[in-house]
Amino acid sequence: MKYYVSTNAQPTGEHEVHNESCPFLPKPENRVYLGDFSTCQDAVAKASSYYSNVDGCKVCSPSCHTK
Ligand SMILES: [Zn+2]
Repeated sequence: MKYYVSTNAQPTGEHEVHNESCPFLPKPENRVYLGDFSTCQDAVAKASSYYSNVDGCKVCSPSCHTK
């Protein structure tokens, strides 16, 4: 699964990680491609190299949604 992180922070400050099948995937200009991962945990770890405050999307990556 291909994962992306939003370049726009949530009102609460975190940058959400989405996979390509998510209905809430940000527009291309508002996301950074992270890579192809088998788990959202790996994607969130990669996203942490871009942003210090990241979280999985509750819709597409509920097992990584912690906020
Ligand atoms: Zn999502």
